[in-house]
Amino acid sequence: MEYLRTDYHVHPNYSIDAFPVQIREYCKKALELNLAEICFTTHIELEPERREIDNFVIFNGEKISVFNHAWLDSYLSEIAQANQEFRHYNLKVKAGIEVGYCRGCEKYVEEIVNNYPFDFVLGAIHCLDHIAISSMKESPYYFQNKSLAELRKEYFTTLEEMVTTGLFDCIAHLDLYIRYGLRHYGPEILTIHRGVIESIFSEMTRRGMGLEVNTSSRRRGLKEFHPIREILDLAARAGIKIFTVGSDAHSLDQLGDYIDEALDLLKDLNLRNHVFTRRKAVPC
Ligand SMILES: [Zn+2]
Ligand SMILES: [Zn+2]
Repeated sequence: MEYLRTDYHVHPNYSIDAFPVQIREYCKKALELNLAEICFTTHIELEPERREIDNFVIFNGEKISVFNHAWLDSYLSEIAQANQEFRHYNLKVKAGIEVGYCRGCEKYVEEIVNNYPFDFVLGAIHCLDHIAISSMKESPYYFQNKSLAELRKEYFTTLEEMVTTGLFDCIAHLDLYIRYGLRHYGPEILTIHRGVIESIFSEMTRRGMGLEVNTSSRRRGLKEFHPIREILDLAARAGIKIFTVGSDAHSLDQLGDYIDEALDLLKDLNLRNHVFTRRKAVPC
């Protein structure tokens, strides 16, 4: 069976940590790469403790508060325009967001997903203890003060909370702690999900949630995708059916990175890639 080639995790110029590449530029590149569908997932980071650091988006070349809705109209209309333009070339362009989950962010997420026509809402854990474990610079400040058991407890408790909010369609890079944690804790970190992820996956199955295969680990020199194959296997065994693939591109050259390999892995595990329209998943 042929799987549609999609990239469901792309950061255009609205994300403060991305290169200033416009939505249209990514779409042109997606055509070159023969992608059937691209979904933009601008960061929304809402932790009040980090408001000076990352509660921002870029709008008209300026950093503005993520809580100022001015950017959302522009973001969604740019995506709608691109979808109109590129559908003549058989490329679909979807509107998503990647919410960096934190306790207390539910209200704002609810407000925007109820008021804007998003296709896809990705939930991610980037921070623990208000420190970005996703960041090469910041993560050591978290890791050096925590045992592996503490990391395990804090990460998976947060994940469970995020799942039970019911706000998210899909979980991004589920084992992100491996990105910079592997070098700090060693290979034991590759097993900390055992015994704790199973019940979270059952809950995700019950809620019809999806799981992302995120390829960004490979350009950082890790051997596997996020999550690792063993975790994908556990997800499948728990009955999760919805999977997406995403490069987590922050620049044009990263678009579509390792997508074919990610699709091969899904095929190998007998799982289907999915696309989303207005928050509804369809296998593709
Ligand atoms: Zn992320
Ligand atoms: Zn991302």
